[in-house]
Amino acid sequence: MFRKKGGGKLKYEDAFDLQARMEEIIRVLGMNHIDTTRVKCLRSFGSSSYRTIARCHALGKVMQLAMSSGAWYAIEFLERFDKMDRKEQDKVIIHELLHIPKTFGGGFRHHDFVCDGNVELLHERFENLRGVL
Ligand SMILES: [Zn+2]
Repeated sequence: MFRKKGGGKLKYEDAFDLQARMEEIIRVLGMNHIDTTRVKCLRSFGSSSYRTIARCHALGKVMQLAMSSGAWYAIEFLERFDKMDRKEQDKVIIHELLHIPKTFGGGFRHHDFVCDGNVELLHERFENLRGVL
C-alpha cells in the first residue's frame, strides 16, 4: 500500500525539560489539584496533524477500574511546539493544564473554560509571581 510521505511513523519521547517547566507552572500558580507524579510530558514526532501544537490525554474511568489505577494524564507536545518562543510555549502548557479538572478524575475541562482569556490571565500571573515565589 501507499503511505503518505513521512506518515505512519509516530515516535514518542520523554520530555523531561517540559516536565520541569510544567511543574514550575503548577507550583507558581498553585494548581494544587494536579498531582505532578501522575502527569507525564511527552514529545511526539511524525504526526500528520499540522495544526495541533499539544494535546492532553487521560486514562479514562473504565481503564482506571480495569487497571485498579487512579487517574493519569499525559501532555503530548508535537513538533510545532519547539518552534515557538518560550512565552507562547508557556501559554500552551497552561492551556493543556487547564484541561485537567479540579477532581483530577480522568475527565477534561472543555474550551468554554480553557479559553484564551483564562490562559492570558494565568500566564500574566505566572510571569508576575515566578520571580517572587
Ligand atoms: Zn485545548
